Amino acid sequence: MRLSHHYVVPHVSTGDMLRAAEKSGSDFGMKAKESMDSGELLSDEIIMEMVAERLAESDVVARGFILDGCPRTTHQAEVLAALLAPQTLDLTVDIEVPTAQVMRRLAGRRVCVDCGANYSVSTPPKVNWLCDVCGGEVKQRKDDTEDAIRRRLELYERQTAPLIEWYEGRNQLARVNGIGPPDAVLRRIIRSIEDRRNRGRR
Ligand SMILES: [Zn+2]
Repeated sequence: MRLSHHYVVPHVSTGDMLRAAEKSGSDFGMKAKESMDSGELLSDEIIMEMVAERLAESDVVARGFILDGCPRTTHQAEVLAALLAPQTLDLTVDIEVPTAQVMRRLAGRRVCVDCGANYSVSTPPKVNWLCDVCGGEVKQRKDDTEDAIRRRLELYERQTAPLIEWYEGRNQLARVNGIGPPDAVLRRIIRSIEDRRNRGRR
């Protein structure tokens, strides 16, 4: 999100799109909710259809995009490459965080059910688990329980980790250390993007 503000390009987040669909109560939204609550991934076809629609909108066509949460499988990456052809992605960023730390972060995360603001057990809202921003109820997401998190991490190993090689082989990958405060991680991401741009110019 903050990266898209920095570069003034649209933030295309599959998570946001799915949560918006879920709120709308459409058939698609209900199906998405079921999958997310159980920690499963939606089928590649559904995800990529949603992404294809978004990438065809005029703001993205004019300014480019930062894609967040997709691709998660090499099949999604292939579909994405075909969607973008003859253009290609400038860069993918792998934010590296040790598994134990991912577990801790996700297990401690608490989210406002109304506006989506993020809190954690170590940084709760000021009053009684009510959102500082909107007064909504702040609680643990159903897909942030330890079981669901473990399932997500297993899925990640099986389906998403192979993407690192896929993009590395195409010279489109930057690895960024994801340990530390969000500001520090953001600065590292921006630095790796600038490095890549400068190399491209030479
Ligand atoms: Zn709120």
